[in-house]
Amino acid sequence: MKLIFLGAPGAGKGTQAAQISAALAVPAISTGDIIRTAIKEGAPLGLKFKSYIDKGLLVPDDLVCAMVKERLAKPDCVNGFILDGFPRTIEQAKFLDESGIGIDRVVDIEVSDDDIVRRMGGRRFCPKCQRTYHVLYNKPAEDGICDECKVELCIRDDDKPETVLRRLEVYHEQTEPLIAYYEKKLCIVDGTKTPEEITKLILEGLGV
Ligand code: AMP
Repeated sequence: MKLIFLGAPGAGKGTQAAQISAALAVPAISTGDIIRTAIKEGAPLGLKFKSYIDKGLLVPDDLVCAMVKERLAKPDCVNGFILDGFPRTIEQAKFLDESGIGIDRVVDIEVSDDDIVRRMGGRRFCPKCQRTYHVLYNKPAEDGICDECKVELCIRDDDKPETVLRRLEVYHEQTEPLIAYYEKKLCIVDGTKTPEEITKLILEGLGV
């Protein structure tokens, strides 16, 4: 199964990719995670990536496509994979086509802009262990403090309100056209249901 997970930032792609990855025994590949790791490890392109991420903008296509090509060549991808957050532009989708990487199905997790703003505005993370929380849906035992490390939780730069709005604009302009591009492979799910219900809907939609 070669799958793509589409959806606005904060729609729950990462959460569902992890569940479906376990259910189908294929790796979930998040370009956002690869980019954040490169920044954290001080990779040569890290500073350049950070300048885009922090503004809520997309990293240039050629850089992301090269990273994805390298990742998909690894042996764990032979039986399939889930791409979480890639492609995000028509150019990136064309890159997959031109590389002969045939995609079987595309899962689109739909959530309204208002819900996205509510969800992302409440996201917090622990700067030490990277564990994520939410002020409404996934609270730490003590407000604003990591359950494990006991350090103060932070807001990711790209979860700040003005950046969330910019990311939504970028999503509508650059990523939403992919829904029409992949029309014939699409499995659309309602992203406002509970995470368990969404996982069930995706597995049903994929016919597994
Ligand atoms: P995510 O964790 O998927 O929301 O990604 C966080 C940020 O990483 C995005 O806002 C972009 O700046 C960058 N990014 C992730 N995936 C891509 C992609 N496929 N193309 C361009 N930029 C990306």
